[in-house]
Amino acid sequence: MKYNIADVIAGRKREMSFTCRLVIDDALAQLNHATGQSSSIETNGKVYRSDDKLWIQMAYVGMVQFVCDRCLKSFDYPLNGEIKRQLSARDEFDVEWLIIRNEQIDLAEAIVDDLVIKLPIQLVCSDDCKGLCPTCGIDLNQSRCQCEEETIDPRLASLKNLFN
Ligand SMILES: [Zn+2]
Ligand SMILES: [Zn+2]
Repeated sequence: MKYNIADVIAGRKREMSFTCRLVIDDALAQLNHATGQSSSIETNGKVYRSDDKLWIQMAYVGMVQFVCDRCLKSFDYPLNGEIKRQLSARDEFDVEWLIIRNEQIDLAEAIVDDLVIKLPIQLVCSDDCKGLCPTCGIDLNQSRCQCEEETIDPRLASLKNLFN
């Protein structure tokens, strides 16, 4: 969501507060594991001038759908965080800055940048998710298969051949 901060840039206001619900879709879909489903995130915060610099401070909370790394099912992942970044008109990526374009900032962009840094490398639907059987692909959370019994360690298999 684009947020116009012209009043703070021009010095007509020292501070602007916002409370809104963001819908994040395309931007978040670029994250690993995301299902591409749009998700809504509640956020509130302020843009203000301090030491002749512009800052944004915001908090967010919401749910995003991700695909489990083990069982490949989508699941709701709760998100929340707090962000404090300097605003800059310099259009180059830096985690320290949020870029101002046409006197606007993109609140969704601020959250996505934060998630890229904070999300764990592996996302699982639950810590004890059993995942899929690597042999037959069955979801081991829901059913069992016979694969485990048939799988023989290849080193043991060659030993077994020796004795046959
Ligand atoms: Zn899972
Ligand atoms: Zn199996």
